[in-house]
Order: sequence, then C-alpha cells, then structure tokens
Amino acid sequence: MKTVFVDIDTQIDFLFPAGALYVPAAVGLLPAIARLNEFAAAQGIPLISTTDAHSENDPEFREWPPHCVAGTTGQRKPGETLLASRTTLGFPPGAPIELAPQIVVEKQALDVFTNPNFPALLDCLAGDRYVVYGVATDYCVSRAITGLLGTGNPVALVTDAIAAVNPEDGARAIAAFTARGGTLTTVSEVTG
Ligand SMILES: [Zn+2]
Repeated sequence: MKTVFVDIDTQIDFLFPAGALYVPAAVGLLPAIARLNEFAAAQGIPLISTTDAHSENDPEFREWPPHCVAGTTGQRKPGETLLASRTTLGFPPGAPIELAPQIVVEKQALDVFTNPNFPALLDCLAGDRYVVYGVATDYCVSRAITGLLGTGNPVALVTDAIAAVNPEDGARAIAAFTARGGTLTTVSEVTG
C-alpha cells in the first residue's frame, strides 16, 4: 500500500493560544504533529500539509474572525511541522504539481478539495491509503476526511493528533466518518 499523510491546517493562528482563531487544546498537539511529519520524512511517505491562505477581506471572515491571512505570521506553520524539503501548491487553476517530501496545499475555504489542483495532486501521488490529522476536527479535518473517503481509498484518522473547536461537533464528525468506513488510529500505532 502507498500511504499518504495529510496534515490539516496546523498553522500558528489555530495552534497557539495567542493565535487569531485558536482551537482549544491544539497547542498540546504540536509534539504529535511534529512526530508524524518527521516519521513521514524518515519513511519516504508523501506528506500533504493543507493551509488556509486567506486574503485580507476574505468572504470567510463574515463567519469567522480574520485568520491565516497570507503573508502574516499567523498564517505560517510552526517550524516543527515543516520539513526541510517542501513545495507549495496554490489555488489558481492549473498550477503545476511539483512534488517534494512535504507539499503545502493552500486553500481559501474549509474544504481542501476547493483547491482545484488538489485532485490532480492526489492522482500524481497515487496513494491508496490516507492518514489524516490536524485541526479542526469539526471543520477542516471533517471536510478533508469526507472528501478523501470519496476517493474510495481507506482513510485513517489519528485521534490523538486532532482537536475540535466544539468537542461535541468533533465527536459527531468522527462518528459520521467511522459510519462511512473510516478507521481510527493513534500516533504510536502509526509511527509504531
Ligand atoms: Zn479559514
């Protein structure tokens, strides 16, 4: 099986209490995210890291406080979540797919599948199993696991490397995911 790791929105604005849209308890995930990303690098497992990259007056800010504006500190990923060798896939349609151990996929909406180049990246990586973690369980992680299940490949969610905005909504998202055949795993199981 060719596994692909998918690290969702582990960005400063979401992960740190002083961030613009802190996800409760997310700061405690940093060691787990770092361990998973380093494991991917060491094992040659492709790592997709999705990131919000909003414009200053993004329509999303009608619903959410402004966060992850492109070019700001809050939009960046903490150093321990970054691999030395990486590339970025923007959202203008037709952007060329450049592969690296870590592929940062930018988006301006909750769902990474709104980046029109994302399906082509998945095709290019030709993964047949996805391991997903990051934030927030009840928003962007939920959209990603739903879309990835739609590819027909197995999807595993790392339950000790996710955090929810609202724990009850997070639990509902996980229940909906397992009901559709998604599986649950842990950092130590994955990195064995
Ligand atoms: Zn956003």
